[in-house]
Amino acid sequence: MKCDYCQQENNASDDFCTHCGMPLGQWYYLENGQEQGPLSSSDVLTLYCKGQLTTETILYREQHARQTFEQSVLYGYAQKWHILEDDATYTQEEIQALQLDENTNVFVEGMQESLPYNQTILFEKPVLEVPSVDWFYQKDEQWMGPVQADSLLTLYLQNEIVEDTLVRNGQQEAVSYASSSIYPQTLEWYIDQGKKEDAGPFSTEQAVAFYVQQEMEPDTLVWAEGLEEWIAFEESALMRFLPEEMPVEQMVQPSTKQPFNKWKVAIIALSVLLVTAIGVDVYLWRVKANHMAQVEVSEEQLESDINDLQDEIDSAKEDLETSQKNNKQNKKDLETVQKKPKKSKKRHRC
Ligand SMILES: [Zn+2]
Repeated sequence: MKCDYCQQENNASDDFCTHCGMPLGQWYYLENGQEQGPLSSSDVLTLYCKGQLTTETILYREQHARQTFEQSVLYGYAQKWHILEDDATYTQEEIQALQLDENTNVFVEGMQESLPYNQTILFEKPVLEVPSVDWFYQKDEQWMGPVQADSLLTLYLQNEIVEDTLVRNGQQEAVSYASSSIYPQTLEWYIDQGKKEDAGPFSTEQAVAFYVQQEMEPDTLVWAEGLEEWIAFEESALMRFLPEEMPVEQMVQPSTKQPFNKWKVAIIALSVLLVTAIGVDVYLWRVKANHMAQVEVSEEQLESDINDLQDEIDSAKEDLETSQKNNKQNKKDLETVQKKPKKSKKRHRC
């Protein structure tokens, strides 16, 4: 019987090659219950190296009992790894520790041809055990990096990368930042209160709510773990959590305009009331004038008309007074609104 490995002739009754020691005869193995083969010893070892057979795979040789690969005579060969053009022998752990280039050709004893390192079972394990710590992110369809995970957090807090930005860890598959393992599920924000003590920590929702309630300005400084320095609210990741119906002008308004606008609203409201009051007065005088034109020059009639007009004037005066009262009430209300932010600011001071 000819040895597939060294091509030397052996006796038909030989179980192993008398020249090289390889098991002689054809091998078969089970894959999903299906018999695969026949294969030479060298072929079986190649499949094991490629990961297509495992130590648990059932295999058998003609005229031999079924066994697992680990129980077979071939398993001993599979423990002896070689690097092409290198006489040394390595165990699986030893050769993996060398962190060979992925194109380096390797083989186990008994294999006819070597394989590139990255096509063998050696390749996957070190990648999983030593994941790259360097991250890359996409900007304008270009990959940027490498950067540390912390730097990605900083970029995120500064609104330079967003939830949908594609990121990848080393050569691993790209995913959105929000679905990556390093996306911050919760953030703690601090709000600068000028000379007062900084307020916080607040959740993203809380911080955004303060802004929506106009208790913060676009240039109010905020900070969260991961930022090197305080940044303006409008430059932070918080901007993206604003409700959609938030009026655009409020987002871009300089802070100094806020109190001014409250006064503007108050002045407009007062003006409207005043104009209405004057309008009512003018109208009544017109009604009176019309009356004058229509009345006959009867003194009695005139006296009666004057009385009627007097009633109308009194009624108009009452209306005017009511308007003025409402006016005062509105002014009060506006003043109350004005004071609210101050009150609530005290509430969230630490
Ligand atoms: Zn042989």
